[in-house]
Amino acid sequence: MPRSRRAARLLTSFLLLLGAGSGLFAQTTAREAVGGDDPEFARLVKEWTTRPDFSSPLVDHLPKVAGLPSPKDILGHHIGEPKKLTYYADILRYYRALAAASPRLKVLTIGKSHEGRELVVVFVGSDESISNLEQYRTYLGQLADPRTITPRQATEIIAKAKPLYHLSGGLHSGEVGPSEMLMELAYRLVAEDSPIISQIRDSVIVSITPVADPDGRDRNVDWYYKYGINETESRPIGAGVPFWGKYVFHDDNRDINYSQIEMRSLLDWYLEYHPPIMHDLHQAQTLMYTFSGQAPQNPNLDPILYGELPMMANFEMSQMTKYGMPGVWTHGFVDMWSPGYLAFMSSNHNGMIRMYEIQGFGGANTQKVRLGNPNGTGANGIGDGTPAGPGPGRAGGPPAIDAAAAVSGRSNQAQREWFRPFPATGEFDWSLRNNTNYGQTGVITALQYTSQFGRIILENFYVKSRNSIETGRKETVAGYVIPGRQRDMTRVERLVNLLRMQGIEIGRATAAVKLQEGTFPAGSFIIKRDQPYSRLAKTLLEKQVYPDPNLRTYDDASWTMGLMSHVEVKEIADKKILDVAVDPVKEKEIRLAGTVGGTGALIAVAHYGSNNMITLRYRLKDARVEATEKEFKQGNVTFPAGSFIVSGEVAKLRSAVESLGLTALALPSRPDVPAHELDLPRLAVYSLWSGGATQDVGWVRFALDTFEVPYELIYKERVKRGGLNAAYDVIVMPNQGGSGKRMVFDIESRGQPIEYKRSDTFRNLGMYGESDDITGGMGLDGVAELEKFVKAGGVLVTLGQASYFPAEFGLAPKVDAARTSPQFYSPGAIVDAEILQPAHPIFYGYDSKTIPVRYGSGPLLSIDTGANPFDPPAPGPPPTPQAVLMRYPGGDDHVLSGLMRGANEIRNRAAIIDQPSGKGRVILFAGNPCYRWQNFGEFNLLFNTVLNFNDIKPVPPKPPATDLPAR
Ligand SMILES: [Zn+2]
Repeated sequence: MPRSRRAARLLTSFLLLLGAGSGLFAQTTAREAVGGDDPEFARLVKEWTTRPDFSSPLVDHLPKVAGLPSPKDILGHHIGEPKKLTYYADILRYYRALAAASPRLKVLTIGKSHEGRELVVVFVGSDESISNLEQYRTYLGQLADPRTITPRQATEIIAKAKPLYHLSGGLHSGEVGPSEMLMELAYRLVAEDSPIISQIRDSVIVSITPVADPDGRDRNVDWYYKYGINETESRPIGAGVPFWGKYVFHDDNRDINYSQIEMRSLLDWYLEYHPPIMHDLHQAQTLMYTFSGQAPQNPNLDPILYGELPMMANFEMSQMTKYGMPGVWTHGFVDMWSPGYLAFMSSNHNGMIRMYEIQGFGGANTQKVRLGNPNGTGANGIGDGTPAGPGPGRAGGPPAIDAAAAVSGRSNQAQREWFRPFPATGEFDWSLRNNTNYGQTGVITALQYTSQFGRIILENFYVKSRNSIETGRKETVAGYVIPGRQRDMTRVERLVNLLRMQGIEIGRATAAVKLQEGTFPAGSFIIKRDQPYSRLAKTLLEKQVYPDPNLRTYDDASWTMGLMSHVEVKEIADKKILDVAVDPVKEKEIRLAGTVGGTGALIAVAHYGSNNMITLRYRLKDARVEATEKEFKQGNVTFPAGSFIVSGEVAKLRSAVESLGLTALALPSRPDVPAHELDLPRLAVYSLWSGGATQDVGWVRFALDTFEVPYELIYKERVKRGGLNAAYDVIVMPNQGGSGKRMVFDIESRGQPIEYKRSDTFRNLGMYGESDDITGGMGLDGVAELEKFVKAGGVLVTLGQASYFPAEFGLAPKVDAARTSPQFYSPGAIVDAEILQPAHPIFYGYDSKTIPVRYGSGPLLSIDTGANPFDPPAPGPPPTPQAVLMRYPGGDDHVLSGLMRGANEIRNRAAIIDQPSGKGRVILFAGNPCYRWQNFGEFNLLFNTVLNFNDIKPVPPKPPATDLPAR
């Protein structure tokens, strides 16, 4: 850059410093200072930016370089043009064109999405950085594992290494702006020679996930071009696109066990490249929120991190304020509690999660934002940046994209706060280009900080990794043992694999292990805490003790993996665990083979609670399979009630049992034990059309697909058509809707049908179901068909909030479904549940009276006993009707992990009700036994229901149960 240009830039910065807010003047100066820029870009961007102060001197220009394709050269338009969004294939096409033209950019394929789209990471840096990428990757790998280097070597590596800063757009595919912006950023990082960009290019390597959910991206772009583009404030669409990814919407940012292939691919990449910073770009706040990790904070993470986060956020806030951009703020939005957000993979591994929420809409239309006046109090109905009128992905569609309603510390966006020194106010238009300007200015500023403090960031990364090893030696918890020889080893296997997937080191004890906490058999899984990811192991395995019951959290309060999986995990304080001899588990995935002993033509398969039992049943779909109704013994093997007796081709049975890790014995003759045949139901899964609902249904679909259970996904169209008994035996309504009314009426009709169908133009719509009009719900006609289905012998299973429906619409008239009080608060605590009818097939495989279950916000279920409310209450606790299969003891003593405020409200409420009706039955779950690929210990409650659908017999009466003692 010529000296005069640099001087002009410096002057610009100085003027900006003086005149924060006088953005027009500052930008004019900046533009004049730039030579070799694309004049058309500058003119159009100025036109598309709705107010001069919604831009910055960092992004109001774009260099034109011969031979380097700008986004416009490939896409045909500049980034941020109103009413223009880019499909994923074109986004990839752009990055590949730039990579072909410049040695400063490289595209790496890391996997394939559910729908087969290529997943990539794009690297951008200097020629030198990109050609030596492998060397820089090695440096970061060494810093990530301080055991591999001496402190002196660490100092040398830090002097040579470069921070890798990872940016990701489109994780929430309805938040479309950042994926557009990142293309321009990549070009700018390759092409521009300003001091800031040159310094970033030379000293930082930038990596980019262009679109984290590419399947959802294309569906959202289709929806935008079909509906959103014509939307106006007075003519809203009224619904968002029913599906984003194949299974989930925004829960791809809650996928703590990396179940979705897109998230898993990024984790695998992360563990090879170790970016010390991962930064997700969202768009759900006004005008730009930069995350700084507010309370409640996960106490396991290194305190250094809690210093680093606000440093970067404050730098961005002050720089952008200096450029005159209003509405940049930090602090009061998302906390640092749940480790399940996608970019948290970096914090979990001693790096740093970062996040923006940038003002935007679900499409590329310019829309109004209405905020209060500067002196507003926030109590006068002033919006918080909610765009005027509904839009794609909002009203009538899924709930607020980032579920902000329950978050602490939110205040009126127009109000000045210590964490929002320069708020935006009033009413203004907001465009896609504004979104680009804010996001890109913020990111360049973050990269500027990283280029200035690169060594400190690397040193912190190293020290945090080192501390994690040392903390494990010093802290009370020295490790964990997952004992071998547990009753069901398939859940042990899953838990071990989930930990290994995250890079946690695990060994198998070579001999029996004696520790203060007990003696564990050889082969037990040992997790020592003197390893780089020792903090993560503790975070995932410990009981979550909430730091302050007055604080709310943005997402789940608990996830304790042993409790969620019903796997015994022992926390160990005895420091001797660090010296236990182990064989390290080298594989990323272990497979514990099942066993088939004995000889004979029949095979008995023990039901120890493995989720693989249902897979076995479906893999042997042509075999005769019975479920035993009582325990029996054969040799020294005990087969609990629910065990399978299979006759058929023994060789095939053997290989199925072994590959699924189950325990079986071949029998010479049929044991003398009552049993019923496990015939396979014709299974349907019911879904609303609203987006938030398809995601909740999606988690159940994902579980059924993974465990190989076939089903038909049905919607209101199928229910209203009737004749349900001719097609299905069981209909499962996953947790969705939030109320009975919503289950019946779903998306409110605005008079115009909203179609979800594939066409030659919109090839991504109509996947996973089609509808001529997604509004209106099943209505009362649909309710009547479902009632007919149950009365004629069908089984209706409702999970979580879907259980309001049968109670409120008369399908289970004896069941009451109440709501918790406004004071009650339980963001997913793990609590005790007491099994009242242990002989019921739903409990096959469960061997204790009390089991840990997740409780979110399901209905408070009870049976209306028909008692006269004016009678004086009988002494003692009320009798529990036979229909109640499981209940919550309730109270603080029965909260096992996480937070439940008002735990007495669930005291003695039903957790599962089996309500016969006509020839069929309704089975209502208050909780969600199939939650986000997490509570594996509960899955069998649903799977047993499916497999034993027509074998549920009335339970003989027994004396009334009494209260569990508090403990
Ligand atoms: Zn988001």
